[in-house]
Amino acid sequence: METEFDFENRIVSSEHTPADADVELSLRPKVLDEYIGQSRTKENLKIYIESARRRGAALDHILLYGPPGLGKTTLSNIIANEMGVNIRTTSGPAIEKQGDLAAILTNLSEGDVLFIDEIHRLAHNIEEILYPAMEDYALDIIIGKGPSARSIRLPLPHFTLIGATTRAGQLTTPLRDRFGVLMKLELYTKEELATIVTRSASILGLPITEEGALEIASRSRGTPRIANRLLKRIRDYAVVKGDGNIDVEVARMGLSMLEIDPLGLDNTDRRMLRTIIDVYGGGPVGLETIAATTGEEAITIEDVYEPYLLQIGFLSRTPRGRCATRLAYEHLGIRYPGSPNTGVEGQRTVFD
Ligand code: ADP
Repeated sequence: METEFDFENRIVSSEHTPADADVELSLRPKVLDEYIGQSRTKENLKIYIESARRRGAALDHILLYGPPGLGKTTLSNIIANEMGVNIRTTSGPAIEKQGDLAAILTNLSEGDVLFIDEIHRLAHNIEEILYPAMEDYALDIIIGKGPSARSIRLPLPHFTLIGATTRAGQLTTPLRDRFGVLMKLELYTKEELATIVTRSASILGLPITEEGALEIASRSRGTPRIANRLLKRIRDYAVVKGDGNIDVEVARMGLSMLEIDPLGLDNTDRRMLRTIIDVYGGGPVGLETIAATTGEEAITIEDVYEPYLLQIGFLSRTPRGRCATRLAYEHLGIRYPGSPNTGVEGQRTVFD
């Protein structure tokens, strides 16, 4: 069945897709100075890295959180690179048995980085192995069964765990508390994204004007992964419809062919907002209800759609649910009913 909200094929989806793999690898910055934006995180990291280096110690465990496509994997690789150590990459759902994690941990060398993506999806019994590993650099193994079972403790090298998650709130407290450093990645500004687009274009050998880069940047929902993906699509458009140069005209025409509006919203976003407005009178409406009506998963709505819609002020979160704001109405060309009785943007009352 075709769902109305075809998340997999959304060009402005911030999730990683196999089609991104080849290009992403070449576009990934390798050192901190090439990593654009996130200045506060970068400044802090520089200090932690320098301190660990001078002390000859492993870096503290780091939790990176924020919406997909903002550069968590990239940053983890950079950290390992700057520390001059190896990085071992895995993800929460990929670790199925306790033994899988034990094997990974015992194969690490002193100072290595272990990167666990989607760490909130680690099974609980596997997570328990991490506690002594993170805290005491030790692996507790049970030998034998029943009354004769005994536990032995194996020392592990001093490693750095970098966990990445889109939802820090879903981490258990014992796990979250064992990270020495918590870093939240923010959505990027238009200017930062334009710099990323210009850098990517130069790596890919694509001629692009400053305005062309800004145009792509302003429709990338604050997300570098989307900016790079749009750049590739506009390159195709420029090659076929133009002379290969990406200027503002080509960027605009290409983006409107992709049905991405000037704010970076695609059909799916617009339909989601329309659902809130048309079906639920602008809200408040609960996340689960939006999910049921749109056929989208609540998690996807929360992780992928909402951060940007909240950031540009099209949605507001109230204790009773999500509301479409005046800006969203205006953007969609729908008359805003106003809400003098509630004081909440976009919220209707029974008197409306
Ligand atoms: P996440 O792990 O948060 O989903 P990634 O680290 O995979 O995101 O980043 C997606 C892509 O975006 C990378 O291939 C990289 O090219 C680009 N990217 C992310 N952050 C930056 C940045 N700060 N500067 C330049 N490029 C970036």
